[in-house]
Amino acid sequence: MTAAFTAIAPLAQVTGADLCVPLADGSTRTYANFDYAASAPALTQVVERIDQLLHTYSSVHRGAGYASKVSTDNYENAREIVGRFVGATDEHVVVFTRNTTDSLNLLAGCVPGSVVVLDIEHHANLLPWKGSRIVRAAGTIEETIRRLVVELCARPAGLLAITGASNVTGEVLPIARIADIAHRCGARILVDAAQLAPHRAIDIGAWGVDYLAFSGHKLYAPFGAGVLVGRRDWLDCADPYLSGGGAVRNVTVTNTQWALSPARHEAGTPNILGAGALAAACETIESLGFEYIAEHERALCEQLVAGLRTVPGLEVLSLWSDCEDSVGIVTFTVDGFEPREIATYLSDVHGIGVRDGRFCAHPLLDRLGHADGAVRASIGLGTGCADVERLVGAVRTLVPESALA
Ligand code: PLP
Repeated sequence: MTAAFTAIAPLAQVTGADLCVPLADGSTRTYANFDYAASAPALTQVVERIDQLLHTYSSVHRGAGYASKVSTDNYENAREIVGRFVGATDEHVVVFTRNTTDSLNLLAGCVPGSVVVLDIEHHANLLPWKGSRIVRAAGTIEETIRRLVVELCARPAGLLAITGASNVTGEVLPIARIADIAHRCGARILVDAAQLAPHRAIDIGAWGVDYLAFSGHKLYAPFGAGVLVGRRDWLDCADPYLSGGGAVRNVTVTNTQWALSPARHEAGTPNILGAGALAAACETIESLGFEYIAEHERALCEQLVAGLRTVPGLEVLSLWSDCEDSVGIVTFTVDGFEPREIATYLSDVHGIGVRDGRFCAHPLLDRLGHADGAVRASIGLGTGCADVERLVGAVRTLVPESALA
């Protein structure tokens, strides 16, 4: 480890930092969490906010009691905080959902035209779009964008649905530029920000993004809420995502008058604690400052990649040779080892949690030449350089000492 890496401490306190896990030899060790991209641990501020919210926890929107009024205020306040966090404008409405998958399925029921997607997407941004037009990503972002333009110009599309950051390689796309291109071609744009939102400042107003989806559980708020932020017109023209109480203005036995968004798509009792947790996470992350968050993970990823590259036969997966920014995700394979074998070894022998498999992005793993999967190490606010050193050291012990430089 170089001197530059010794100072990188965790940026925030998260739950589970002192978790002790059993090892195969019967001993225990403090858990090293490298699975933030799947679900991030809760920020302590989020847990504290949940505690507060529980004091007045009650039904929202329809109760006249004090606790119900406070809970309603908390819930609607959470909506505003989340909207501000992503730069929503008056044209956008914030709908609380269960997660990104839920948000994208909701939007799929609202899009009037066809949907264009890249073949690198998480299944959540591939499968909900019925009859989508799939564009094969190229080896550079430039050429990938050119292919998108060709497809969008070939015949009109309603929507371009694209990831903000790949859940496999962490690579970030230039969303403002792509939004501009989509609009010039007459399409709207949806950004799957499941991996982007925890790592980079988002400004959908300035970027010209029409729809944005992300999950609380990846944003240090693992209490079951997600978000769809988007332009009102399509949302208000579509059938409600769920039919039931709260989504209506008036009902007779022969007729239903549906409410406008967000209520239109939030039938039933909403996830009040999830929304509050998500808002608390947005506020905490904003107070940390995205410039520090980006710098923290850039330094840790540099350390991680530099360390991993010393392991013979190890390949770090990437999509685009001209990509200038990546979030805290490093996915790799090691010659001669199955991804599950590596992940199990890291857990059983070293108490390190990574993810292995195809990361709900089977077409992408296929085209990267790793149809059998890979290992993903992902970092976040609770990661420090000691964790990275531990992971690198553990991966190095996989291969015979004679093979190491
Ligand atoms: N999109 C991306 C890029 C993801 O990484 C994920 C989850 O890993 C999803 C969508 C789906 O998120 P969720 O499981 O919270 O619905």
